[in-house]
Amino acid sequence: DARASMQSVSVFSPALHDGHRRRFQLLQDFGAALAGGDQLRLVFQPRVDLPTRRCVGAEVLLRWQHPTLGNISPAEFIPIVEHSPHARTMTAFVIDTALRQMALWRSQGLAPPLSINISAANLEEDDFAAQVGLMLMRHAIPPEQIELEITESAIMRDTDQALKHLNSLAGMGIRLAMDDFGTGYSSLAYLQRLPMNVVKIDQSFVRDIGEGAREQRLVHSMISLSKDLGFRVVAEGVETAAVADMLAGMECDEAQGYFFARPLETAAFEAWLHQARAD
Ligand code: C2E
Ligand code: CA
Ligand code: CA
Ligand code: CA
Repeated sequence: DARASMQSVSVFSPALHDGHRRRFQLLQDFGAALAGGDQLRLVFQPRVDLPTRRCVGAEVLLRWQHPTLGNISPAEFIPIVEHSPHARTMTAFVIDTALRQMALWRSQGLAPPLSINISAANLEEDDFAAQVGLMLMRHAIPPEQIELEITESAIMRDTDQALKHLNSLAGMGIRLAMDDFGTGYSSLAYLQRLPMNVVKIDQSFVRDIGEGAREQRLVHSMISLSKDLGFRVVAEGVETAAVADMLAGMECDEAQGYFFARPLETAAFEAWLHQARAD
């Protein structure tokens, strides 16, 4: 049992004990947050078409305002939740909340497609694709209007179940994006055999292209190769005009990052959309 093992650990390592205790508490409290209340909310980061600089959608990102600990970074709580039984409920919450928001926006004439992050664990559920299909129906959202982002490492787990889900999601018309590309060990040749539409180049590569010719050549070849294989290419973590211009010169299709917009609260995202349309 978790408490007993924490006690035995604490005898040897107080620091490890604290780490365990915090993770244990966060996991428990996340379960309570999922059960109701307003601790969890979604923010939206615009994705921009590089040639025209128009908004072509947004990525949905989860935020957690803990009642006593304050804002917890997704970098801290997502990995904990992803490896717990709450993974399934978290993704269901994010998809359901995002689709409800989309339905509202569509009724107001705003219709940005949304990209939603899913976890490796979701692809191991036996009814994941069917659940997503049901939620789309419930909110009357056309499947083409959403994209699911899956990290390269999650895809590389490569279970038959995961492949089956990817194929049924794609078969429904849902778009699929490979997230954090370049951080795993997959080859594009392998990924080409999966029903993916989009490759998102990880920000660690994008950030460096201002630094030198080698970094630029690396990203340029990632873009060219991905496009040759039929993927739409998105650069993540674009923080400056110089990087945006370089990427445009490399014929990268889309970009996302602080230079264009930070992840925005619902109202701020709506205002951003109206303003972008007026430009
Ligand atoms: P990700 O999917 O790679 O999301 C992009 C992250 O980069 C976000 O961090 C975003 O705020 C940040 N970012 C965007 N533009 C820039 C930029 O120009 N510069 C820098 N330095 N950062 C930028 P965030 O929101 O903290 O999320 C971190 C990670 O947590 C995400 O990485 C994703 O893996 C995970 N995550 C967030 N929301 C969800 C969710 O709803 N479900 C799941 N399964 N994972 C999520
Ligand atoms: Ca993502
Ligand atoms: Ca990413
Ligand atoms: Ca990431």
